[in-house]
Amino acid sequence: MDATNAHTIKEHAHCHALRLEPLFDRNRHLSNALFSRRDLINGGVAALVTAALSERVSARAPERRLVLVNPHNGERYDACFFANGRYRADGLAELNHAMRDWRTGATRKMDPGLLDLLVRVRDRLDVPPRKALKLVSGYRSPKTNRALHARSHGVASKSQHMLGKATDIAIPGVPLSHLRSAALSLRGGGVGYYPNDGFVHMDTGALRHWS
Ligand SMILES: [Zn+2]
Repeated sequence: MDATNAHTIKEHAHCHALRLEPLFDRNRHLSNALFSRRDLINGGVAALVTAALSERVSARAPERRLVLVNPHNGERYDACFFANGRYRADGLAELNHAMRDWRTGATRKMDPGLLDLLVRVRDRLDVPPRKALKLVSGYRSPKTNRALHARSHGVASKSQHMLGKATDIAIPGVPLSHLRSAALSLRGGGVGYYPNDGFVHMDTGALRHWS
């Protein structure tokens, strides 16, 4: 267990919002407990096997991080939402907040699949994880969507934005047409191309595209 914990902590060391408490709790528990020598040896072997397994899992699933900048209010977020083979509640919560309806402040749980899609499109373009994506739009409350729909026919009345499954983004320094091609190649859902507005729409709804 010691080895597993030490490994987990190391994995988390470069991840956002590190929490060390469980390590100390478990160490105290271990030192207070009474083990026979054989149990300790078996436990040690088990810990090494677990550590080796978790290393393999980590190698397959490195951390996923998103840096987002909202051009409407200047807010910047840097959140690690996946590490050690699982989603992190703190990172997801931070991104739910980052991608809230900036007009009304309304939040919604964003689809983790959409966050994964953003990581994949960024990786596809060889953009480093620490580089900020320009977040033009994330979640849209029904009120905001109605207002936008009334103003423009390009805004769907049943938008994926209202479900927390869509985002409009750009990546500074990356031509919008490259971002669009990369998004299309992932076949992760809908892709809309808005060169006049300077963003690409991506969602995790049905596979489709438009411009
Ligand atoms: Zn959109």
